[in-house]
Amino acid sequence: MVAENINRACKQTRKPVKAERETQMKLLTYRSGGRDHVGVLDYDGQHIWRIGKYSSMLDLIQSGISASELSAASARHGEPVLFSDITKRPPIPNPAQDIICLGLNYSAHAEESAKAAGTNFVGTSDYAIYFSKRASETTADGEAIPGHWEITENAVDYEVELAVVIGRDAFKVSKEDAYDYVFGYTVFNDMSARNIQRNHKQFYFGKSLDGFCPMGPWIVTEDEFNRPPSLRLRTWVNGELRQDSNTDELIFDIPHIISELSQGIVLKAGTIIATGTPAGVGMGFSPPKYLQKGDVITCEIEGIGRLENEME
Ligand code: MG
Repeated sequence: MVAENINRACKQTRKPVKAERETQMKLLTYRSGGRDHVGVLDYDGQHIWRIGKYSSMLDLIQSGISASELSAASARHGEPVLFSDITKRPPIPNPAQDIICLGLNYSAHAEESAKAAGTNFVGTSDYAIYFSKRASETTADGEAIPGHWEITENAVDYEVELAVVIGRDAFKVSKEDAYDYVFGYTVFNDMSARNIQRNHKQFYFGKSLDGFCPMGPWIVTEDEFNRPPSLRLRTWVNGELRQDSNTDELIFDIPHIISELSQGIVLKAGTIIATGTPAGVGMGFSPPKYLQKGDVITCEIEGIGRLENEME
């Protein structure tokens, strides 16, 4: 529905995109002329149509989208900009709240985590493991990730995850209705300092270091996917494949997560939920393959895109 409205709005601009949709609707935040804007990537992948009415992606999501509003907004800013001329920004540069994360939500990752901790794997939890990740600012595709080497003791790790962006306030939502509350999906890298998470016996600090929240390069709206979305997700480090799984393998799926959390928490429009990472993180190798300065991490989710960052 969201994509349909935006698509209709784009079609009504002076330089229309192709009459029929051939590829996905990609919504992005970008910097041009010293300011952040929200736009739609053209089907050619080379032009961005600015959606001028909204000051930010959160503003767009939270305001609700109608075709007439978007049409007017796009028409006022008629000429597209070249993708090669803009500075990439994360789709949601400043989340309204911390990211809600799932821990150990793929069985093979739960097993490798137990092994890394030196404990016996006794099966996955009957209950979803939720935690929070500080994210005052997220990190864009192509932007460097600071290693915080003075406190991370050579234990910096990557985690590719499917991130769900909530589209309207969700409270006491049933599993059956859950997808109606999803605005879209993006690629998320739940960067983690394993020494800190081990020492402090919880996830918060070690996953919340500044710059540890790469996401993007854009949001693809929910209606572009099947329910449930069945998407291959992979990570490479310097071109070496490390993670390769599919969101089919999620232990607690998207309807479970939204329905369960919303029984007691209003999930506000714009909330970001990182659904957990599959096996193949650096910690899971023996010896561990942690990230070093200069390493390039590439996270890709089928049907969404590729998020690439270098450690600095
Ligand atoms: Mg994670």
